[in-house]
This record gives sequence, structure tokens and C-alpha cells, in this order.
Amino acid sequence: ARPLLAIRGLDLDFGTPRGRVHALRNVSLDVPSGQVVGIVGESGSGKSTLAYTVMGLLPENAEVTPGAILFEGRDLLNMSGSARQSLLGDRLSMIFQDPMTALNPVRTIESQMIDIQHREQGSRSEKRARAIQMLHQVGIPDPKDRLCAYPHHFSGGMRQRICIAMALLVKPALLIADEPTTALDATLEVQIIHLLKDLQKEIGCSILFVSHHLGAVAELCDRVAIMYAGEVVEQGTVRDIFYNPGHPYTRALLECDPGRIKKSTRTLPTIPGEVPSLLGSKVGCIFRTRCRHASDRCVQENPVEYRIGVDHVARCHLLDEQRLVSS
Ligand code: ATP
Ligand code: SF4
Ligand code: MG
Repeated sequence: ARPLLAIRGLDLDFGTPRGRVHALRNVSLDVPSGQVVGIVGESGSGKSTLAYTVMGLLPENAEVTPGAILFEGRDLLNMSGSARQSLLGDRLSMIFQDPMTALNPVRTIESQMIDIQHREQGSRSEKRARAIQMLHQVGIPDPKDRLCAYPHHFSGGMRQRICIAMALLVKPALLIADEPTTALDATLEVQIIHLLKDLQKEIGCSILFVSHHLGAVAELCDRVAIMYAGEVVEQGTVRDIFYNPGHPYTRALLECDPGRIKKSTRTLPTIPGEVPSLLGSKVGCIFRTRCRHASDRCVQENPVEYRIGVDHVARCHLLDEQRLVSS
């Protein structure tokens, strides 16, 4: 079946006074219908840039060079402004890391939750009822009485629940969640992850879930994409990535005790070595400065995507060599 979202060969540069920052490099990624896809990577690996590119929320200095983003078969990058606008907040919605980004501090929750709904979603009182129902579902106590409150009347965890309620009110086909739990404490994080999972099952939407937290990804996601310095270096099912990682970077991330990953580590393990500059040449494997297997070939040639399993690919020359050995 056609994936809901198919990103193909996407390159994106930011123009800066120091030169062009290559923030996304040849990114290809599928989000199948009804599945949760995790994006994992260190700070600066391009996770938010990828999320904002899909949402069409890029800053002025961003330039997409080649690439396509097919959403329900239509290329978001070649769509008129108005066609795109009607997809946003209808088929596509987003939850941000900081809930205040999405909430207007000087308007009541009620007016924001009514305005986000579409004209076709009914009368004002129907929209109000739907808002109450959704607040109830995300665990806001006494939602009827809280509708007239302002965002600052709620705690951080409650505000993030309200953002989730707002993002799901329009029953999107795809929800993009960019580190929605990073600002919350660990107990709240677990609650929000379970809430997202329940709502996702109920609505049947897909989620693109950006996170530093491997345990949360293992808990919530069906598939995982590992990003490093603007590239998706490996992607596969949660099982493929956690139990049969093919890329040296993924293996380095998972080398620490798997029990620990499941439980409390909320940040990615740090791996030794030098983080590459995103400026300048794009030749060679982007991971070579930190890879203990790096060879001359890794300096001269970009690895292509090698298939490891049915739905499991990684970009590393070692996989090519293994294939030669095994065939
Ligand atoms: P984090 O985990 O810290 O949120 P991230 O994976 O979301 O990191 P991005 O914010 O997508 O990373 O940034 C990717 C790269 O692009 C970084 O090197 C960042 O400095 C650069 N970048 C992001 N936005 C801009 C911009 N507007 N202009 C120039 N460079 C930018
Ligand atoms: Fe390491 Fe080379 Fe594989 Fe890159 S291509 S991950 S440098 S072995
Ligand atoms: Mg980010």
C-alpha cells in the first residue's frame, strides 16, 4: 500500500554568513498509514528541520534543493499556498516541544479550541461540545469549567495535554510531534506517551514522533529512523533497530545496557569522537569522523542505502562488503 507520507531524496540547506549549512541530506522516509514512526538523533541532526519541512514552517534562509514530500500521493513541495494551507490543521497537525508555542497566552482555551475546528465541523455549540469531550479524553479534570481559563492557569503537563487535544480535534491523518515530552518530568512523560498511543489507536492517525528518548520510542513506535548530521542513516521496524541494528552509529547508541534504555534514560547516550561540520563538502560518509570501522572508501564515497531486511535499510559501506562476502 502507498505510505501516507513518503519523503524522497530530500536535501535542505540553510544559507548563513558562514556558508551553506547542509541540514538535510538525501533523506528518504516512509510513514505508513496508521503507524507511529520515531525519529531519533543527537541535537543538531536535523529532526526539527525535517518536521518543519513537512509542515511547511521553514525560515526564509532555508532552501530545499532536490526532493519530494508526497502526502497522500500529492507533493507538498509543489503545491499552491492555499492547497497547502487547507491540508494544515486538517489532514496534518503538529505538537511542539514547548506547549506555549502553540497556545495563545491572551485567549481562553475555549476560543482557541473552537477556532481550530473547521467550518464543516458544525455549529459553535457542537464545536464546544467536541472541545469538552477532547479535553476529557486527554485527562483535563472538569473540562466544562476549565474552558474559560487561559493557558497560564494550567501546569506545563496540562498545557501539553491541551496541545494534544487541539492537535487531535481536527482528526488529522498525520500528527507530527517534535519532542512533546522533553519539557515534562519523567512521570508525566509516561502518561503523555500512553495518552498519545491510546488516541492514535482510536483516531487511526499516523504519528511522526521526534525524540531523544530511546525508551519512549521503543514504547510508542512501530518504526524508527535514526538521523545523524542531516542523514537518515538507518530505518526499520522497532524490532529491527533495537535487536538487529546495522549501522555503526545505531550500534554505538544501543551499546549501553538495553535495560537502561527501556527505563530511565531520557537523553541519547553520547558517543566519543568529533561531530562533523554541516558546512562544506558532502563527499564521503558523514559518520566517518566517529566511526571505528572507517576506511578510505568511507572518505571518498557516500554509502548508498543497503537493504538489510524486508523493511530495514542502512547507509554504510560495511553492508555492501558483507553482501559480497555472503553471496
Ligand atoms: P535538537 O535535538 O537540538 O532539537 P534537531 O535534530 O532538531 O536538534 P535542527 O534544529 O533540525 O536539529 O537543526 C539541524 C541543523 O540545522 C543544526 O546544525 C542547526 O544549527 C541548523 N539550523 C537550524 N535552523 C537553522 C536556521 N534557521 N539557520 C541556520 N541553521 C539552522
Ligand atoms: Fe563507518 Fe564507513 Fe560505514 Fe560510514 S560507511 S558508518 S564510516 S564503516
Ligand atoms: Mg529539534
